[in-house]
Amino acid sequence: MIIVMKADTQPDSPELSQVIQMAEGYPGITTQLHRIEGATRSVIEIYLLGPTGVVPTEPFEEFTSVERVVRVTEKFRSIGRHGGGLEAVGFDYNGVHFSQENLHVFPGVCAVDEPHNLEDTFKALQENGVQTSRAGAYKPRTSPYDFQGKGAACLPWVFELAGKFGIRVIAMEVTHEKHVNEIRQALRESGNATGVMLQIGTRNAQNFELLKVVGQQTELPVLFKRGMGITLEESLNACEYVASGGNRRIIFALRGMKTNLGDPHRNFVDFAHVPVVKRLSRLPVCIDPSHSVGSRAKSPEGLLDIFNVTAQGVIAGANLVLVDFHPRPEEALCDGPQALLISELPRFLEDVQIVRKAYEERVKRTALPD
Ligand code: PEP
Ligand code: MN
Repeated sequence: MIIVMKADTQPDSPELSQVIQMAEGYPGITTQLHRIEGATRSVIEIYLLGPTGVVPTEPFEEFTSVERVVRVTEKFRSIGRHGGGLEAVGFDYNGVHFSQENLHVFPGVCAVDEPHNLEDTFKALQENGVQTSRAGAYKPRTSPYDFQGKGAACLPWVFELAGKFGIRVIAMEVTHEKHVNEIRQALRESGNATGVMLQIGTRNAQNFELLKVVGQQTELPVLFKRGMGITLEESLNACEYVASGGNRRIIFALRGMKTNLGDPHRNFVDFAHVPVVKRLSRLPVCIDPSHSVGSRAKSPEGLLDIFNVTAQGVIAGANLVLVDFHPRPEEALCDGPQALLISELPRFLEDVQIVRKAYEERVKRTALPD
């Protein structure tokens, strides 16, 4: 059960303490407080944990500072909307605001290789007004003989370059607890030159111990990628591990699903689920067109499939686009063939803006009232 307090309720208000006291008066019930940053306001929510089935909602609804009491029925308790009773959650990180209302593009390299390639990438981002990027230092590869990423050794120069070109947030995958510690330490040693969003890759979507690790720290937000071979509900349940650890700054990413029905794409593109995830969860939703499509194939009109599926996700209301770029794909140590070229960046960003405007128009003209 979740008790949503009215927006002006202060953490030290006597009514808040009375509500908590009443809740904890029921046998076996404990409470947790969360401050939720919604699209337009910030509210305190009280989570009742334990046997809440026998706890009535009415006594709580009588408090003037209680806005709503929501019975939690679905499995993803913290990240779920629970039938629309709860609003979306946004958050700020390193000067960037993330929510179900806005859109950020994270163009960057799949894997960090040489400094000159990253420098050219970040420089192009700065020239195009982009402050968010991706750069993999730890790569989970299908074969043990493939390049595994530059690891901790590259972090100091990656963060220094990011700072130099005004990059505020880098999405960076982690596959082990020690990567989280290495990143936090290197960020500190760089004087927090940039910020990192910890990416959980599709192969680790159900690595529950890793999910607990990134969930139990609250310094860095988490980009959780859906599992490629599990259901959406299983992915949302796995993502709940992050939130249940205490970290509520989470983005949920769609990146396609493993199925031969997905041919000729690397994965079956699942961006029709953007609005579904926005309806089921409170989280901003990311799409990864590069790892979904996996190639530079193009349509007869000349549009790359990566552009086309990006448009599908953006017109459906996506909040983040994670996309592979490389200044010299022939030098890339991972996923070169699916990388967009730096010369294609302005057109990609323009295309995203065209489609985002169309999405906003659709919401204005076509959306049904509540
Ligand atoms: C990636 O983004 O670099 C990546 C490996 O993605 P995924 O986990 O979706 O395959
Ligand atoms: Mn990749």
